[in-house]
Amino acid sequence: MTDDAISNLANETRHFDPPADFAAHANATASAYDEAKADRLGYWAKEAERISWATPFTEVLDWSNPPFAKWFIGGKLNASYNCVDRHVEAGNGDKVAFHWVGEPADDTRDITFGEMKDQVSQAANALIDLGVKTGDRIAIYMPMIPEAVVAMLACARLGAPHTVVFGGFSADALSSRIIDCDARIVITSDGGYRRGAPAALKPAVDEALLKCPDVRNVLVVRRTGQDVEWNDDKDVWWHDIVDKASTDHTPEAFDAEHPLYVMYTSGTTGKPKGILHTTGGYLVGATSTHYNVFDVKPETDVYWCSADIGWVTGHSYIVYGPMANGVTQVMYEGTPDTPHKGRWWEIIQDKKVTQFYTAPTAIRTFMKWGDEIPAKFDLSSLRLLGSVGESINPEAYMWYRKAIGGDRCPIVDTWWQTETGQIMISPLPGVTSGKPGSAMTALPGISADVLDDAGDPVPNGSGGYLVLTEPWPAMLRTLWGDDERFKETYWSRFPGKYFAGDGAKKDNDGDIWLMGRVDDVMNVSGHRLSTIEIESALVSHPKVAEAAVVGATDDMTGQAPVAFVILRESAGDGGADVIKELRDHVAKEIGAIAKPKKVLIVAELPKTRSGKIMRRLLRDVAENREVGDATTLADSTVMDLISTGMSTAKDED
Ligand code: ATP
Ligand code: MG
Repeated sequence: MTDDAISNLANETRHFDPPADFAAHANATASAYDEAKADRLGYWAKEAERISWATPFTEVLDWSNPPFAKWFIGGKLNASYNCVDRHVEAGNGDKVAFHWVGEPADDTRDITFGEMKDQVSQAANALIDLGVKTGDRIAIYMPMIPEAVVAMLACARLGAPHTVVFGGFSADALSSRIIDCDARIVITSDGGYRRGAPAALKPAVDEALLKCPDVRNVLVVRRTGQDVEWNDDKDVWWHDIVDKASTDHTPEAFDAEHPLYVMYTSGTTGKPKGILHTTGGYLVGATSTHYNVFDVKPETDVYWCSADIGWVTGHSYIVYGPMANGVTQVMYEGTPDTPHKGRWWEIIQDKKVTQFYTAPTAIRTFMKWGDEIPAKFDLSSLRLLGSVGESINPEAYMWYRKAIGGDRCPIVDTWWQTETGQIMISPLPGVTSGKPGSAMTALPGISADVLDDAGDPVPNGSGGYLVLTEPWPAMLRTLWGDDERFKETYWSRFPGKYFAGDGAKKDNDGDIWLMGRVDDVMNVSGHRLSTIEIESALVSHPKVAEAAVVGATDDMTGQAPVAFVILRESAGDGGADVIKELRDHVAKEIGAIAKPKKVLIVAELPKTRSGKIMRRLLRDVAENREVGDATTLADSTVMDLISTGMSTAKDED
């Protein structure tokens, strides 16, 4: 993605200025950019006051041994204290922390900050009884139930780093993470509800443990009441030890650099990496960005992030940021289509949700289902919408803005990674304009740039590699147990700068457009094309709901685009000429060079559990290779169907 990139996408001219009524009350101010520019560390020192320190820090950043950063030197704090106790001490013990909504109808619980404090303390005491000591690692493998948050905060309270593994992952994925970080305790549940039925979790833990002899205990929450195999030597019911434990527990203050958690990346581009986050900088980064980007008003807001806690978004923007900010949240256990396709909108209506944060994959799914579904619900409580996980196609942005946001809510398209721990590039609502498809600019205190192959910043109007040029508070400290791979992966491509692995373009205003993974860029007859642009062109066709494009080796052109397309429900089977129609549409939108060589109409796309399209698997199929590591795939049967379709698809002219 250098200067010769064909980039119509970033020529998108639509933009939305901050609504005046929003700007008048926004948490963020335009002056924050200037302040942070003049004194970056001073800005973060000030943002650090959003959380409580048992011992104040004496220095903001130690960058004397790059790429190993230390933030808030000398500071001591407890993350769990910040998320619960301090709100109770401030007199907000009766305030709802979570409106929890189970998947079965009427299965709801409101949990206050006071109740959270008691339960977290009980869980911490129970873990102590199980022999947990500061520094021990604990794996958490749970559905979206309040005990998952309680478990995370209990670990944080004891200074025992958690590693949350998404509840939909296989036993293999679980065991490899347990082994990688040497966890000795696993917290799980019998199961959870998904698509109207109880789904089991405990059997996967039992299977994983065959490979993990060092795990001492499995702490099991009873959620569904289904039968589970029981190993008396290891298994302990949550209700037997946590519910009976004392609610008194005094949190210890840990050093700012004490490990808080290890989170494995979602594995879109390869084998997951164990990202280490520490306590002080991470909590400051998550809390500050949550406050400013979501314009949080803790007194009145009901915030909902639909991510799973098994993903970093659930860590930073359900657990640590929002809880430290003391905001009331919605947490939902199940799928968006159970018992009907309007479930999410019904929850927003019932709980009067004010900010909603979700992923483009979900938005495109709702687009596919049709506007009439959200239109049945009163969504007027919403005042801000967020997007994360992938670039949001302009078409999906406009749909989100209109069908969900009533054309009045600003959208924050937030770019960040497991590694960054906090949002890095995003509009500031009330301050920055939004453009459909652009994450806009680096937040105050964050320094991002787009570099060319030689490592020089590209001028406006050009594309290159996204880098972060200065350390930031919530940055990963290393890869668990592998400092060398940490240096090699992120800091070797452009010495002294963090290489994100994503391509990006600066538009003529200098705003940033994410162009997909660097690995996904294809070279067609010497032209560098980004997959996201061809995908967005396809999604702008009225018959298309979702599209994934990969570059496949081609004798004539080096590489050629191959597209996998899901049609909207209203398009039926698309008609006989749909493939020609779509190819011509891409040619018209971008240019003949981008015209897909093959277009495959599919029912599903391979996605990671966090909803990202796994293009590397599609590339394997398109190039007739054996499909690579698919352990983080949401539904592994999808690949078989696609492979079969591919083997019968014809090349187009
Ligand atoms: P792995 O690193 O193991 O391949 P992953 O990169 O998918 O996994 P995450 O850390 O969950 O794991 O995802 C971060 C990536 O998601 C970013 O590097 C970027 O490619 C993409 N991303 C996240 N938010 C946005 C956004 N708003 N716009 C564009 N891309 C985004
Ligand atoms: Mg990544």
